[in-house]
Amino acid sequence: MQTHQASCHCGGVEFEFTTDLSAPMECNCSFCVRRGAIFHRVEDNDVVVKRGEDLLTRYGNREFSDHFFCSRCGIHCFTRINFSGTTFHNVNLRCAQDIDVASLSPQMFDGANEL
Ligand SMILES: [Zn+2]
Repeated sequence: MQTHQASCHCGGVEFEFTTDLSAPMECNCSFCVRRGAIFHRVEDNDVVVKRGEDLLTRYGNREFSDHFFCSRCGIHCFTRINFSGTTFHNVNLRCAQDIDVASLSPQMFDGANEL
């Protein structure tokens, strides 16, 4: 497990998250194909917003997925998931400065059909 520092584009939102990077994912739902994120599941307690909590704005149905964006630069930082009562975060790995996303081999989640 390693802790990664991450931010939105303008730097208004800074957060860190801890993960082993063992299961990066992409998703083919109508939202994810547009944003192009590669994300990773992270336990709720392992995501810490260090700065700019007040800048975060939300989008989504909120029952299953609650997407958090910087309201200034529009970058998606993470999504809070509630999957049948199990909650976790899907963090946008592209927000982390120290992760070489091109070196990852993300699995495709079939969100277009499973959500
Ligand atoms: Zn921003």
